[in-house]
Amino acid sequence: MSESLCRLCNGEATPQHSHILPAFVFRWMRESSAGGYLRLGMTPNRRVQDGLKRYWLCANCEELFSRAETDFANKVFYPYSNGSSSRIIYGNWLLRFCVSVSWRVLQFYKEEASLNSLGPDAASRVTEAEATWKAFLLGQRPHPGSFRQHLLPFDAIESITSGQALSPNLNRYLMRTTDFDILGSESASFVYSKLGRFVILGFIRQDRPNHWQGSRVHLRTGQIEPRKYTINRGLFDYINARARLVAELQSGISPRQAQKSDEARSANVEKYVGSDEFLAMLNDLRMFGDAAFTRDDLPEEGGSKESKTSS
Ligand SMILES: [Zn+2]
Repeated sequence: MSESLCRLCNGEATPQHSHILPAFVFRWMRESSAGGYLRLGMTPNRRVQDGLKRYWLCANCEELFSRAETDFANKVFYPYSNGSSSRIIYGNWLLRFCVSVSWRVLQFYKEEASLNSLGPDAASRVTEAEATWKAFLLGQRPHPGSFRQHLLPFDAIESITSGQALSPNLNRYLMRTTDFDILGSESASFVYSKLGRFVILGFIRQDRPNHWQGSRVHLRTGQIEPRKYTINRGLFDYINARARLVAELQSGISPRQAQKSDEARSANVEKYVGSDEFLAMLNDLRMFGDAAFTRDDLPEEGGSKESKTSS
């Protein structure tokens, strides 16, 4: 495919600089943190103001995506993340939104990364999933068939029954981290996209749909509400490991970058204390005590960082 064709409709109009994960998520991350900069999970040494972008979509397709994004941002993402709405009824825009995110992440892996984790016979399923999502997004088919979407809303954990050691970064990961990946197991493979408190799963293969009940996004309408979860065990183990990995990367941050984060927080103590970033940290402190601190948060020699966490 030529570089200059729109990835979705194949049109020749010059592609725009499009976000892989939607822009509003990064806006929210900036607004709800102390420093106004982002350190994305896998590249903590870079302070950025926005997420990954590629010249992929023509203006028409951008517009197609942005309508569903606006609905999701205003009716689901912001009310839920601000705690101002606990039960949300959605319309047919939710499935469009989820498919658009899964399609973009799958496109990214196809073009720039590897799909090897899905096993040798996955190529045809991936091709079929991508073609199906594309046709659905372009209005050429009524639903995405077996390439279903699931949406899981998370929040601070009140209590948890888990047989394993939890990452002391778990609440911050569940509440705020933005992340994406492609995952495969013996009975399922899917695109994993994390947008603040929401995880979208776009299934490429799902041999046992009854193992994934309760979170499926329906074609026309349904409701989203916080609830006691029985989350798929494999997925929970993955999320916990991912939270740990992000914390390890953060604690390996260079001293210069750690100082920058620190300065941003101390210059904005009042904003930090009222922020969602702070709330997520408090929840990790509540559950894990001092283990929640990474090097980025710990007082350095001379105690210069103490004021930020205690004030
Ligand atoms: Zn297009």
